[in-house]
Amino acid sequence: MSNSVKRLEDLATMVSLAKRRGLVFQSSEIYGGLASCWDYGPLGAQLKMNVKRAWWNAMTRREDIVGLDASILMHPMVWKASGHIDGFSDPLVDCKSCKTRFRSDNTASYIERRECPNCGSKDLTEARQFNLMFKTHMGPSEDSGSVVYLRPETAQGHFVNFENIQTTSRKKIPFGIAAIGKSFRNEITPGNFIFRTREFEQMEMQYFVKPGTDMDWWEKWRETRWNFLKTVGLDEADMRFHEHKEGELAHYARKAGDIEYKFPFGWQELEGIHNRSDFDLTQHAKFSGKKLEYFDEQAKEKYVPYVIETAIGCDRLILAVLCAAYREEITPDEETGKPDVRVVLGFKPEIAPVKVAVLPLSKKAELQEPAMALRNELAKEFDVNYDDSQSIGKRYRRQDEVGTPYCITFDFDSLNDKKVTVRHRDTMKQDRVEISQVMNYIAHGLRNF
Ligand code: ATP
Repeated sequence: MSNSVKRLEDLATMVSLAKRRGLVFQSSEIYGGLASCWDYGPLGAQLKMNVKRAWWNAMTRREDIVGLDASILMHPMVWKASGHIDGFSDPLVDCKSCKTRFRSDNTASYIERRECPNCGSKDLTEARQFNLMFKTHMGPSEDSGSVVYLRPETAQGHFVNFENIQTTSRKKIPFGIAAIGKSFRNEITPGNFIFRTREFEQMEMQYFVKPGTDMDWWEKWRETRWNFLKTVGLDEADMRFHEHKEGELAHYARKAGDIEYKFPFGWQELEGIHNRSDFDLTQHAKFSGKKLEYFDEQAKEKYVPYVIETAIGCDRLILAVLCAAYREEITPDEETGKPDVRVVLGFKPEIAPVKVAVLPLSKKAELQEPAMALRNELAKEFDVNYDDSQSIGKRYRRQDEVGTPYCITFDFDSLNDKKVTVRHRDTMKQDRVEISQVMNYIAHGLRNF
């Protein structure tokens, strides 16, 4: 790798790369877009799947955690019991001069000087609570009896299924339930690309423990999650833990903290680790009339478990992974030898949307056919990209920019010596490898990248 490396300095560079390379597009762009809604393009969809898989495997391959895929629409009483109908709100202030609406609890100019963050006017409304849940109607009538909500978090699915899951999986406490799914919040001030949106995907795990052991488990999960974030490519130097003080704690929390990440726009929450006590199960027992307890057969005792929650936004993690992966290097151009800037997304191989690119040197059929055959063979094991347009140098750069770990060049010599050139993304070193050995070479290389 070159010595001269520049990291991502501004979000706009990432937004433009993401669009240019088919990672993330603005939703409904041909109609002018819809604020804070984004679509993952071909490479973005693959990247998202890889991030979700990394999280899912880290959770559900443990003996003590099982998976769940709960519905977005839930019985409205769920949100009464959880406290969301009465308390899931942010303080909203309107500027009477420029009509900007903003959240007053995290807007620096308002907190310091009580002035509009947009125009500086002091002619503002009083802060009023604005409920963040999206409301809709179920069925053909739109009366108050048909109101349902789009879930603002996935966690409630874990709580209302606690008994079903515990009895069918026969898990003993401590055990966890993990889920990935869409959540919706009518955020007052969404923004910073996919950092804060109104529709987003969450990856949440609720770990049910015996009361009294909860603080130990909170500490353990904090460490486990910190280590996980490193495995998907975040640098420890860009992570810190922020513990919530008395006044910051959510109504349900006994102890809570966030792992924060240093985004180009500053330190921000990435993942929450909360000790929710027995709040949720007790509330749902009260509102549903069902006992939500656990019977410990060995100790012959019954109790309402405490819950340690780990909650991270998939889209927010993707943004962190993209920021962490980005680098610009001054390196000699691989064709001309002249100094050149190359942009690399240095993803961990398991996160990279494409693992290997097959690049035939010429568009002539005599190369295309065997190169395509190799591509199809590799695609049995890996996500492969086939690219036959423009010079090899340009194609290498294109693959670097989306973080493809290996490029394979199929040239005229390959027809005779049955070998191809395999290039490593980070070192740019090239190896001549027997075609019959390429699959093993890539598999081994990805494991030891
Ligand atoms: P914030 O303070 O940023 O509004 P929060 O504390 O309300 O977040 P939680 O309810 O703990 O967030 O949600 C858990 C995780 O879900 C967050 O750490 C974040 O990664 C993600 N998340 C929450 N709201 C959004 C959003 N509007 N867009 C994208 N991700 C989100």
